[in-house]
Amino acid sequence: MSDISYSPKSARALNIAVCHHCHQLVRGHGRCSRCNTLVHFRKPDSLTRTWAFLIAAIAFFIPANLVPIMNIKMLGQGEPATIMEGVILFIEHGDLPIAIVIFVASVLVPLLKIVALVFLLLSVHFEWARTARRKTILYRIVEFIGRWSMIDIFVVTVLVALVQLDKLASIEVSEGATAFCFVVVLTMVSALCFDTRLIWDIKEESTKGNKR
Ligand SMILES: [Zn+2]
Repeated sequence: MSDISYSPKSARALNIAVCHHCHQLVRGHGRCSRCNTLVHFRKPDSLTRTWAFLIAAIAFFIPANLVPIMNIKMLGQGEPATIMEGVILFIEHGDLPIAIVIFVASVLVPLLKIVALVFLLLSVHFEWARTARRKTILYRIVEFIGRWSMIDIFVVTVLVALVQLDKLASIEVSEGATAFCFVVVLTMVSALCFDTRLIWDIKEESTKGNKR
């Protein structure tokens, strides 16, 4: 089926809104008949809020990668290590699986999430109507991996606990970890602020334009 010929009416076009809290369908906007929450056709100020949290996340992404995230000491000697230095250190010690988990969870995933959200925001901003379905899938992926983003902090915490048992080595968490937590939380909130229906609104507008 051609992407353009498919043009179902949106709920908004039928004057129906969904309650963000309990998912009850409500005629018009106002208050939800079930839980009395204020109902909107679209998340209010979705684009502005998503941009704001995303820019803050990008700002924290820089110190999260440049400031030491952990302090690794072997035989009493050692120095603070950034995420990448930590990854290299684990590779040098033959702990490849841990190095891969840390690299994927703390460098690759946050970076790809930020890039994906910037792309989605730009696509709404500049009204790129094509591939709406793929963009929605991209958003679902971003939203899904969001809940796994804290795995890196979890790995560092487990490492700290494990290595403390070893008399010869120790790991302490450094300031970079706080910046990293901010990146994770801010990208999660940013993704939550984004309303995927904006993608379909553009699609609807462009379909109407094509029919005219
Ligand atoms: Zn409700």
